[in-house]
Amino acid sequence: MEGKVQEEPDFLKQVQLYFDEASKLTNVRSDILELIKRCQTVVSFTIPLKRDDGRIELIQAHRAHHSYHKMPCKGGVRYAGDVDIQEVQALATLMTFKLAVADIPFGGAKGGIRINPRNYSQAELERLTRRYTIELAKKDIIGPAIDVPAPDMGTGSQTMAWMVDTYNTLYGAKDINSSALVTGKPLALGGIDGRTEATGLGVYYGVNELLNTKAFCDKYGFLAGIKGKKVVIQGMGNVGYWAAHFFFEAKATIIGIVEYNSSIYNAEGLDVEEAFKYFRAHGSFKGFPHAKEVYEGKDNCEPMYKDCDILIPAACEKVITVNNVDKIKAKLIAEAANGPTTYYAQQKLDKKKIPVIPDFVLNSGGVTVSYFEWLKGLEHSKLGRLTKAWEQKSRRDLMKLLGKESSAAEKGPEEKDIVYTALEEIMGETVREMFAMSQKMNLSMRMAGFVIAINKIAKCYEETGFDV
Ligand code: NAD
Repeated sequence: MEGKVQEEPDFLKQVQLYFDEASKLTNVRSDILELIKRCQTVVSFTIPLKRDDGRIELIQAHRAHHSYHKMPCKGGVRYAGDVDIQEVQALATLMTFKLAVADIPFGGAKGGIRINPRNYSQAELERLTRRYTIELAKKDIIGPAIDVPAPDMGTGSQTMAWMVDTYNTLYGAKDINSSALVTGKPLALGGIDGRTEATGLGVYYGVNELLNTKAFCDKYGFLAGIKGKKVVIQGMGNVGYWAAHFFFEAKATIIGIVEYNSSIYNAEGLDVEEAFKYFRAHGSFKGFPHAKEVYEGKDNCEPMYKDCDILIPAACEKVITVNNVDKIKAKLIAEAANGPTTYYAQQKLDKKKIPVIPDFVLNSGGVTVSYFEWLKGLEHSKLGRLTKAWEQKSRRDLMKLLGKESSAAEKGPEEKDIVYTALEEIMGETVREMFAMSQKMNLSMRMAGFVIAINKIAKCYEETGFDV
């Protein structure tokens, strides 16, 4: 019947459908495949939160470890009104594949608390976060060698600061590495320069890599490069804003921005910084003076259906579905959020030969820089601190030897320089490997990514053996 909304499987089932399809393309033993598919540990508990008015509210919290093929586990903590156990498991599963494709030596994990953070005061969020940390620590579910949380939807560096401070209070005196409990911390607490923007920057690096790959451009009919590409972005949170920022900086034309309550469109291009500031100040795009079209209510997603080169869903899961996929006119979908395209929508996109760069490959920049931050925590030293002056001196000596003038290029690298260059290198390598596999086996990039990840994880398990 026309207009009828088609139900689709839940998020965990979607991830498992992708996994099952990819599994058939590998030579991995079925028992190992079954092991890779399942979450190893899942905990759920209730937090009694004292609200500011004195009421006690019971809040549902979760954490899942998907895989122990590499330790510690790693994954974000999400605060959202629709968090549930299957979603947390789906996200933990995707984390494992994300880490494997990028060769980051962790197993996947994820956590979530079922609240809409907009409805809670800072003091309430702090109490809730500290209690969540205590409950996880008490159960030995988190720790710098067990499972290292990070920010995700609805959480940020402040959340991580509360978590690490709580953990340090409990264990800091006995564990010299206790500050490596979380990543995405503020700089003053051992965070790393470049983590905040890392996921969005990684999205930019990944897309840039493909759009500068001749075989990709020829296959899908793109002119090389980011400059002048028409881009629509959904979500102006951490990932969406930073992705938009870097595409804008590289002279892409950002024609549409979609938020949960409003959206804007301008075929000539929007100024990302102005739009972001306006949304932060007003909580909505309503009245934004530089848009040609402003949408609210049920037409909110309209800019996602405009003609564009790249659509970047950077908000949440299941936004490109069987119900709206036929309206999408983008030439390339670059998944910055986790799980934005449903399994059945992906099938339709495959039929139409619209390429999708999958979430677990394209948004791996955040966890990659988190890995650098975790290493920094164990080193107890800023990246490059010991070698910066030596590098500067060597470059100065070289310039002298070459008889050249002094220049800024002599300067030794700052932490951010190291983070950005290492991230660009890793994103480039990951995306190249995925595209090469998709070409070799004639697969979608998502299936190629899954095949790479499954093979790598299976190899770990096979070589470990299972005798305790
Ligand atoms: P965030 O909370 O900072 O931002 C999410 C933004 O999306 C918010 O501005 C929110 O209002 C908006 N939004 C929510 N639902 C929407 C909808 N239906 N339509 C339009 N906009 C909507 O979260 P984030 O950290 O930017 O995460 C976004 C996505 O990226 C999530 O899927 C997350 O799992 C994924 N991700 C995040 C990171 C990270 O480092 N933060 C890393 C990898 C993946």
